[in-house]
Amino acid sequence: MAIETGATPATTTSTDHTDPGSAGRSRGAEDGLLVEATRRSIQTPVAPSRGALRPLGTDEVRLTGGFWAERQRINAVGIIPHANAWEERVGWIDNFRAAVDGDVLTTRTGREFADSDVYKLLEAMAWEHGRTGDAGLDARIREVAALVGRVQEEDGYLHTLYGREGQAPRYSDLEWGHELYCYGHLIQAAVARLRTGVHDELVDIALRAADHVCLEFGQDGRDAVCGHPEIEPALVELYRATGERRYLDQARLFVQRRGHRTLADIEFSRSYFQDDVPVRDADVMVGHAVRALYLASGAIDVAVEDADRDFLTHLTAQFTRTLARRTYITGGMGSHHQDEAFGDDFELPPDRAYAETCAGIGSVMVAWRLALATGDLSWGDVVERALFNVVAASPSPEGTAFFYTNPLHKRVPGAEADPDVVSPRAFAQLRAPWFEVSCCPTNVARTFAQLGSYVATATDDGVQLHQLASATISTVLETGAVTLDVATRYPDSGEVTITVVRAPAGETEIAVRVPRWARGAATLDGERVGGDVARVRRTFADGDTLTFEVPLVPRVSRPDPRIDAVRGCVAIERGPLVLCAESVDLDGDDVAGLSVDPTTVHEDAGTVRLTGTVASPEPERTGERVWPYGSTASTGGSHRARTVQLALTPYHSWAQRGPSTMRVWLPADVATPPHREEVAPHHA
Ligand SMILES: [Zn+2]
Repeated sequence: MAIETGATPATTTSTDHTDPGSAGRSRGAEDGLLVEATRRSIQTPVAPSRGALRPLGTDEVRLTGGFWAERQRINAVGIIPHANAWEERVGWIDNFRAAVDGDVLTTRTGREFADSDVYKLLEAMAWEHGRTGDAGLDARIREVAALVGRVQEEDGYLHTLYGREGQAPRYSDLEWGHELYCYGHLIQAAVARLRTGVHDELVDIALRAADHVCLEFGQDGRDAVCGHPEIEPALVELYRATGERRYLDQARLFVQRRGHRTLADIEFSRSYFQDDVPVRDADVMVGHAVRALYLASGAIDVAVEDADRDFLTHLTAQFTRTLARRTYITGGMGSHHQDEAFGDDFELPPDRAYAETCAGIGSVMVAWRLALATGDLSWGDVVERALFNVVAASPSPEGTAFFYTNPLHKRVPGAEADPDVVSPRAFAQLRAPWFEVSCCPTNVARTFAQLGSYVATATDDGVQLHQLASATISTVLETGAVTLDVATRYPDSGEVTITVVRAPAGETEIAVRVPRWARGAATLDGERVGGDVARVRRTFADGDTLTFEVPLVPRVSRPDPRIDAVRGCVAIERGPLVLCAESVDLDGDDVAGLSVDPTTVHEDAGTVRLTGTVASPEPERTGERVWPYGSTASTGGSHRARTVQLALTPYHSWAQRGPSTMRVWLPADVATPPHREEVAPHHA
């Protein structure tokens, strides 16, 4: 294995990126788990020691324009400064100052996991610093890290809420305390520093914390896990970044321990923490969606490092079933509000969709790991769906307000959020500036800063394009150095031009994922592409171009009938975008009474339109007693109906034109409006 045979982990520099001798992988292995990586300092959040595909760093894939480059711009000028300002404003950074000053008992603010959001902001800043070299971000990271370092105890323990005189003892509430979860985000911030060529105090703090965890929770330590998985993928990545095997061993131990009921039973049951069934025995994701997805990410990481094919196969099947039965058309996951959890199979109510932004990010984490391990580019479909329709939906165009939940039907037009008021998360009607539980904004920030890493990968003799985005891709293959320029207006246009700016000397393959919805219809240089990947293998010359194209005609999608909450409805999609109807386009009528004729869907000057009918209830007469059920589905006197030519909006940009009701799933055909019947007083 690569680690044992002495590949030197690069912990303090990223300068070996361009060393051709360090870029290779063993060739020809069809099984991804047999392919070992020979370099680990790639500027990317996930750099496995083995796998079918080699990730490329944010220094190797630079987004140059279009949809995702715009999100990176918003992140730099909006989201990151906004999150930094709010974390000062709500006192979460001050919690560390108070811990230094000794008055944390009386002044600490925020929930148990507030420390983690400071770390997640540091991670976002670290990736952004790596991407842009922004000296201000580097200085800010060092400033906050110096503060955090003063709070860390001699033995590496670090938290602002536990362990001091007058506070609850450390690790006394593993169900809800989030101490290990916080270390996880601290460690991921440190990995971001290491991978971007910086070994600073933040890294030393994280290493001390990780060593403390290995002692405290190791084989001979506490037989326990954290209520919120997250430290698992973090420890594996720290192992990958440093070569210290104890971090991998500890991550494996946490994955193995989960499901053995070390956490207390709670009102949502132990499935909430995924502590009811061992990971190897769980057939589908259950419980709190973000926890389940972070755990799966860590479990995949362990399976990959251990070359444990059976475990990887099991985890792949678990995620596949979750996608088939417990995922919204937007890629959103989690249909319970009360426990932020997955529902039963096909329990996917659009109006009660929780679909937390962080769960969308969690599904990107899982799918990306599977793509790297297996070489199956179609995992990019999952990444694309969640990025465009969950993650991109969260921030406002300025990056100063966010959705926490992402329902597919909004019945009540919410008020604009006050830019100075913290929202109680899930219940904000419109994007809010900050939340009492504010996991999502900083998660979006770190994901946007890393976006380049999810676009392309490499093998010894090829480059694979997973996402269709304008980018410059530069790396070194065994066949030679290569630079590709990808130009596209996707998702507005389906045309992608790939220019080989610098061609490798040897025969090389360029592969492009064909999105699932475009299979059989995509073309490469005008030739129809069969299968789910477009491939060209040849000896390229500088200046060669390839033109890949997918048709972006609007399409009508219908649900599996077992998703009975939306049976009889259609959703309209265009390319990777799920579209929705908003009441601002209905002259004040509500989307509740909307039904559509799917045969009329067409595109007109870039906008997708269709014909529908809006049924609106007549105002109730004074004293009228109404019962909304009856023996006939009457369209009679209680409703008026009118025909509308409806313009649809990309779901990711809904609620940008003021308060509105909204729905993704549209009752199909000009159907019967909701029934409403007067009842005799003695019935009621
Ligand atoms: Zn969140």
